[in-house]
Amino acid sequence: MNYDQWKLASPPDNGDVSPCCGAEYSEDVISNCCGAQLVHEKCSDCQEGADPEEVYICSSCDESFDEPIPDWEYEQNMREDWAEMRMDEDRLNRE
Ligand SMILES: [Zn+2]
Ligand SMILES: [Zn+2]
Repeated sequence: MNYDQWKLASPPDNGDVSPCCGAEYSEDVISNCCGAQLVHEKCSDCQEGADPEEVYICSSCDESFDEPIPDWEYEQNMREDWAEMRMDEDRLNRE
């Protein structure tokens, strides 16, 4: 992998990533009632007036989340998940 490829594959410059996939994300504004699109301060789902709610959208799985996390924290979580998964596998193999 050359430097350009590495740069493209790496997370955003500030080092924060989505907690679900460890991927890049974008910020979005949705209605606080239905989580739908907000058009002229009206919820596009229930057509009621709604307050905007800022969310982050994972660019990998399109799920929304509240807070981005630092990439090192994501890696730490992944390592813990893997450790747990391995433990589960060990248990299954023994049964
Ligand atoms: Zn995701
Ligand atoms: Zn609504």
